[in-house]
Amino acid sequence: MKLFNTLTQSLENFVTLEDKTVRIYVCGITPYDTTHLGHGFTYVSFDTLIRYLEFRGYTVNYVQNVTDIDDDILRKARELGIAWDELGKRETERYLRDMDSLNVRRPDVYPHATEEIPGMIEMIQTLLAREYAYESGGSVYYSVQNDPEFGTMARAIGLNDYSAMLTIANERGNYPDDPRKKDPLDFVLWQAQAPGEPAWPSPWGPGRPGWHIECSAMSIRYLGPQLDIHGGGIDLAFPHHTCEIAQSEHFTGKAPFSRFWMHTGLVHQDGEKMSKSLGNLTLVSDLLKDYRADAIRLTLLNHHYRYPWECFPEDLEVATETVGLFEQVRTLMGERVDGTDSLLHGRFVATMDNDLNTPQAIFLLRQAAETVVVNHNVNTGAEVLRLARVLGLRV
Ligand SMILES: [Zn+2]
Repeated sequence: MKLFNTLTQSLENFVTLEDKTVRIYVCGITPYDTTHLGHGFTYVSFDTLIRYLEFRGYTVNYVQNVTDIDDDILRKARELGIAWDELGKRETERYLRDMDSLNVRRPDVYPHATEEIPGMIEMIQTLLAREYAYESGGSVYYSVQNDPEFGTMARAIGLNDYSAMLTIANERGNYPDDPRKKDPLDFVLWQAQAPGEPAWPSPWGPGRPGWHIECSAMSIRYLGPQLDIHGGGIDLAFPHHTCEIAQSEHFTGKAPFSRFWMHTGLVHQDGEKMSKSLGNLTLVSDLLKDYRADAIRLTLLNHHYRYPWECFPEDLEVATETVGLFEQVRTLMGERVDGTDSLLHGRFVATMDNDLNTPQAIFLLRQAAETVVVNHNVNTGAEVLRLARVLGLRV
């Protein structure tokens, strides 16, 4: 099986650290707003990867986090006039409901950042002791100048120098003018309490963790110092994952932090990235009112996970037809579930082994389903249904 590794920018043979066990960590949501199609694409893509790895005989240990304390949560809670933790709870539940609808299996471990703070503090203390971090005014920062290796992931995705990194970091939530920082690109590990904000005790005074340290601490706690796969949307590759690599490897002393880095492409709407700040969102919950969950899932998987795409209503119509075709096969099969088609099976595996080429896999299944409807071949019919379920369809 070959997977594309963002860190090396190449297709690599998938080899696990431990035979037939996959440790995978996917960055979870920051629960302050409703789940949109971009989230759907990321989590359905990784859900399909996990289902496929299991189908190929691996045992998968899957951790996904909830960033349940963050600037966006505090801002939105103030706007709505509700408690920040209430907002986080409500939006996490909504997200889980939407994902359940799309047949996305829940992770094996689903840690919340606010419940994992001791592990983060321990990491920060070690980074301070090793001089990769410094304390300033009750906050702690990671020092990029003290880490000559900083930025391997950034360089892999084309951010070749310091100023390219700083430009993108600033677009994605970095505060370059924070007077407590030694370098504008330094990132916060522990943030001193601001007036009126929630805080947890720490050796540096009350405050809250920085976003990047959360994922490192939670993945190391539940999956160990090295992962097989770390995933998320491509907009997380820098700075989030770049910072995760730096602090994790200098904490554990082990590299690489993750053997494979997999990123999903961005979903566009009206020619622009679908995002909360642009307000051009297609919500999963709205789509579920008009389309069947299998059709939405199939629409997502009709796009290869790595590439950006834009969703059009016609895509959902085509997917609805394909789901109908699979259902015709199921009706024809009646109670019969056995039977195999080794040719179809082999083609499906070869296609999915090639960096999880789900659009091509769906094409193969659709083609096979069309023949089954005509010739009533029960062996092919059983195979079509079995493989469609590997893609997470409920047919
Ligand atoms: Zn993360």
